[in-house]
Amino acid sequence: MDYYEVLGVTKQASQDEIKKAFHKLAHKYHPDKGGDEKKFKEINEAYQVLSDAQKRQQYDQFGQTFDQNGGGGAGDFNWAWQNQAQGGFDAEDLGDIFENFFSFGGGGRATRRKDIKKGKDIQVDIEIELAETLKPIVRQIRINKLIFCSRCVGKGAEPGTKLNECFSCRGTGQVQQVKRTILGSYTTFGTCPECKGEGTKPEKPCNVCKGEGRLKGNETIDFTIPAGIDNNQAIEIPQKGDAGKKGGKAGDLYVRVYVKKHPVFARKGDDLYLTQEIAFSQAALGDEIEIPALEGTQILLTVPAGTESGRILRVSGKGIPNFGSNHRGNMYVELLIRTPKKITREQRKTLEQLKKEGL
Ligand SMILES: [Zn+2]
Ligand SMILES: [Zn+2]
Repeated sequence: MDYYEVLGVTKQASQDEIKKAFHKLAHKYHPDKGGDEKKFKEINEAYQVLSDAQKRQQYDQFGQTFDQNGGGGAGDFNWAWQNQAQGGFDAEDLGDIFENFFSFGGGGRATRRKDIKKGKDIQVDIEIELAETLKPIVRQIRINKLIFCSRCVGKGAEPGTKLNECFSCRGTGQVQQVKRTILGSYTTFGTCPECKGEGTKPEKPCNVCKGEGRLKGNETIDFTIPAGIDNNQAIEIPQKGDAGKKGGKAGDLYVRVYVKKHPVFARKGDDLYLTQEIAFSQAALGDEIEIPALEGTQILLTVPAGTESGRILRVSGKGIPNFGSNHRGNMYVELLIRTPKKITREQRKTLEQLKKEGL
């Protein structure tokens, strides 16, 4: 579902145009007025995102790569934005956040929580330098997790023995129970306690994993951090979490990236901010000065004659690469005029002269 298409507006639409389009469509499809409820929900969802500047930007940025079903072209990864201000980042919460995000690409995750055999998601944190965001970087991590049992190929049965249909539930995983109350008896269905809802029982459980189909171990995982990643963003590596129970699907691995503060540059989105001191004479007369770039090189910057302290100059394309495009942000240099504290006798003479002239 393309939110812009749903609202019938262009990607460049203003907030006002979006609002107008929403009101018009909401009116037309309102279920109370006999409209199409499904369509109404879609319109609402699209508006929730596009009417919020931050959500809209995230959608514009990540929309294409969020499709789990191979639409995006993000390779093995799916990217998501993680916006929690404080700590308390747990894999369950994250799962919810990601589910919300993935629904952008058309859903398909609804079955996730119902899968009782699915392994747990794992979350790890890594730290990188700001300069490392200029290019994609390949990292390797080793994590402790539940791994697939190769002895029983995840089935939980000792090799050479059979998996029998559970006798108690006849393979359905559910058992009927009759409950008697003072108002009479009624029948309920519950998970079979014998096979824990799986419908099968190994004749003899695997010696290595005790019938779980998975065991404690570790795995080394390679992944790529894309250029332009921001602090607190997470990378999802599908099916690299805990192995599933008895051959169930593995959980996912989430790598949360912390970008360290830089001693010289401050970052805001894709832009970098730098404060640079210049001498009074450079400000008055103009000059060419060298300033540092994030890549470690020097850039020549022209200070115009008559520059006032606090003036901000823009250096195009010297910021952080924009996630998902080839475009780079800008660098903004704030020029501050340095007042000399120690001066020579000669300089004093010159300054006294300038003072007389009213400079
Ligand atoms: Zn059973
Ligand atoms: Zn096993």
